[in-house]
Amino acid sequence: MQNINETMDASAIQNLIDKQKRLVASGGTRPLAFRMKQLQTLKSAVKKYEKDIMEALRQDLRKSQYEAYTTEIGYLLDSLGHTMKHLKRWMKPKTVRTPAMHFGSKSVIYPEPYGSALIIGPFNYPFMLVMDPLAGAIAAGNAAVIKPSEFTPHVSAVIAKLIREHFDEDYIRVIEGGKETTSDLIHAPFDRIFFTGSTQVGKIVMKAAAEHLVPVILELGGKSPCIVHSDADLELTAKRIVWGKFVNTGQTCVAPDYVLAHKEIKPALLVKLKEQITAFYGADPKQSPDFGRIVNERHWERLTGLLEPSKVVTGGESDRGDLYLAPTLMDKVQWGDKVMEEEIFGPILPILEYEHLDQAISMLNSRPKPLALYLFTANKGIERNVMEAVSFGGGCVNDTILHLATPYLPFGGVGQSGMGSYHGRYSFEAFSHMKGVLKKSTRVKINFIFPPYSDKKLNLIK
Ligand code: NAD
Repeated sequence: MQNINETMDASAIQNLIDKQKRLVASGGTRPLAFRMKQLQTLKSAVKKYEKDIMEALRQDLRKSQYEAYTTEIGYLLDSLGHTMKHLKRWMKPKTVRTPAMHFGSKSVIYPEPYGSALIIGPFNYPFMLVMDPLAGAIAAGNAAVIKPSEFTPHVSAVIAKLIREHFDEDYIRVIEGGKETTSDLIHAPFDRIFFTGSTQVGKIVMKAAAEHLVPVILELGGKSPCIVHSDADLELTAKRIVWGKFVNTGQTCVAPDYVLAHKEIKPALLVKLKEQITAFYGADPKQSPDFGRIVNERHWERLTGLLEPSKVVTGGESDRGDLYLAPTLMDKVQWGDKVMEEEIFGPILPILEYEHLDQAISMLNSRPKPLALYLFTANKGIERNVMEAVSFGGGCVNDTILHLATPYLPFGGVGQSGMGSYHGRYSFEAFSHMKGVLKKSTRVKINFIFPPYSDKKLNLIK
């Protein structure tokens, strides 16, 4: 039985990693039947704990039951279902083509588990963002250690309980704690680190992982732009932007960080955005059961510090005691404004305008590569132009955030917004080393590669 609220020093962490590595090396976690059983166990455990998870999400983030289910629990159950359906095929060694110089040989890729994987999560989707990577780690045959966010203690406690009750302690372990705990973990010799969080901490993780050359996947953040071109359907655009921005109170890694609207339609778009906020959350969003709260006082202070009253056109109301900040629109924002310096990660949506798309693209390309980009247009030429000219992790045309809701697209950042990707088959690959093996024929013997070399041999290969 695992200890409750376990904290661990460096030697206990090392001990656990050794046990996990031995377990994986023994082959115990490798059979399809074992992996399927563990995935099924996880699925049943999540269903069993559904109410507790929802309550914990309400306590930590005031998430509505609907959002808790769709964006965390239901999302994970779908992901587990997809993984179990396809795992047998993903696990099969894959025969690939072989060049003519290896005539008679066969080339095979064997996916193998890394070993002991560390999964570190953020506070915003505190359940799903550790459990979905865990599904990938199990599917790929790894053992794992999970470190949930300390900012969402109720969710962290439910995760610890759920895992403790359903999994062997040497196979999957939850370690709770603050950044000191995370720091101890990232300096330990895991075989894979999967980190979701801020770009700033991502750098700390990668630096620590370099000590033991632990390969990292970094799912980070950034300022994701949302371009609205002059030909966009404004009613639909506003609805999709307002939902993507204010779901989870704007605390979503792929939320549109700011809108870049064509000059001609900006005034009309602003009207539609305001209408949509009222349609979703009523005249007083503080009373809406569907609008959450900021995770803690530190973030509330950071966010309210970004408000420039002269630029606020909707919202702006706040209440420190309740960690409330209204869905807020800021107009006439300039690239140099404070709100444009860092990822907002809260319910403030600045609106900037552009006249020529090429200028907007140059501005985007002069900034760090974002995790997501959204483009609203009916024009295929503009769509092609933006897709080719701007680098970003992933995104949508004519919608926001939903590119993460399909297991068939790789999800991840690029540059400052992260490295590596997951979801669906990509999660399995994220936790697998792809071992490439050339199976050489013993009957076909090609001798020209061996010394002694000669001009004749050189001419043969030229
Ligand atoms: P964070 O980086 O502050 O914290 C994430 C984890 O890092 C926590 O578990 C914490 O314990 C640990 N940590 C914090 N400071 C540390 C330090 N100095 N040393 C070692 N470990 C430390 O992130 P957050 O505030 O919880 O989450 C918000 C950020 O995460 C945003 O930037 C958001 O865009 C990003 N995010 C990205 C994704 C994605 O999929 N790309 C998803 C969700 C959130």
